[in-house]
Amino acid sequence: MPLPDGLAARFKVHYRCLNCERNITKTLDVPDVEDAPRGVDELLESAFFQNQRYFCDGCESFIGTLIGVSQWRPEEQCV
Ligand SMILES: [Zn+2]
Repeated sequence: MPLPDGLAARFKVHYRCLNCERNITKTLDVPDVEDAPRGVDELLESAFFQNQRYFCDGCESFIGTLIGVSQWRPEEQCV
């Protein structure tokens, strides 16, 4: 499955929820705009990423620890 139209990149962002202590993976889509981050390093430095807010779907906590970010590959299933 290729990257959907209008996206510069897609990432998987891994958090650990401090409240319910589960590992949470979020799919993060980057719109295809000027200066859009296309790699993990660019993403981590971007204002776009810093504006992302963590939210736990399980316990509705807003407090989570960032564990890591990985680039979504087109051959992977979107989860
Ligand atoms: Zn939680």
